[in-house]
Amino acid sequence: MSMGWKWFIEYQTPHSAHMHGIKEVIHSRKTDYQQIDIVDSEEYGRMLLLDGKVQSTVKDEYFYHECLVHPALLSHPEPKDVLIIGGGEGGTLREVLKHPSVRRAVMVDIDEGVVEASRKYMPDLSKGAFDDKRTELVIGDGRKYVEEGKGRFDVAIMDLTDPLEGGPGALLYTRDFYKMVRKMMTGAGIIVTQATSTYYSSYCFATLHNTMADAFGRAGGYHVWVPAYDSMWGFTYSALGRDPKSMTATEIDTELEKRGIKDLRYLDGKMYRTLFVLPKDLLKEIAGCRRIATDADPTFMPI
Ligand code: SAM
Repeated sequence: MSMGWKWFIEYQTPHSAHMHGIKEVIHSRKTDYQQIDIVDSEEYGRMLLLDGKVQSTVKDEYFYHECLVHPALLSHPEPKDVLIIGGGEGGTLREVLKHPSVRRAVMVDIDEGVVEASRKYMPDLSKGAFDDKRTELVIGDGRKYVEEGKGRFDVAIMDLTDPLEGGPGALLYTRDFYKMVRKMMTGAGIIVTQATSTYYSSYCFATLHNTMADAFGRAGGYHVWVPAYDSMWGFTYSALGRDPKSMTATEIDTELEKRGIKDLRYLDGKMYRTLFVLPKDLLKEIAGCRRIATDADPTFMPI
């Protein structure tokens, strides 16, 4: 059988993978930090890959970006200063700027190459967010930015590449790192991170949940199905103020209306509530998890 495309295979484990039919490679570049590829796929449209791992696709990126950003921002009464670490494509920044109370959004990404390529080849991801007057783009290591402790933030969002051994994000998923972030948070502050697959790397999700609970004295987790990641994708958070899990569907809809946010494509009050429903086996793994990721002993995804 002849096919008009080539296959790109992303492995979830050494024995399981997602195959994507690729029409064309649009951009390929090796930076000091990672291999960047932007490709046109048959099923998901344009996709950003870093070191051979799918980061965002134009077809389903909003599942991930809306769910990473809005639970934290909606549960904060008036988020003004927001810190984003990572987030190269600009989708997280785009969602943050939808909240009218935000007056400053600092985004710190280590790789200018990702920001440049995404702006040029996937402009719908950032939708002008990098040109917004409230945006402050810092090209640098997020760990170093936090170590320097510049500024105070109501919300801190970690939109980082997965914790892979030798990867640029590995030391931004540790207790040591979270304790430094804690010092930068305001009174009702909230921190959220992407926390890997709740299926393929549930132990990693449970470890991050436990690590945040240790660093902040409390933590929560939720997840959403991201088709291109081929998995339920997890997020863990610590809220010094209101727990996002306690927001009702009506409160979410009312808050969205009050803030004039009318263009979400995935989340409304009802969908929001489903994020926090975790299966029994995962809850058991979280409850039984004693592992804490530290700088000396970080947690990694298997692949
Ligand atoms: N949605 C994605 C996922 O989970 O597949 C993550 C999105 S985003 C593209 C990840 C970004 O994290 C990249 O642009 C990468 O350059 C950035 N990054 C990795 N390590 C970093 C570090 N130490 N400091 C700041 N940014 C970092």
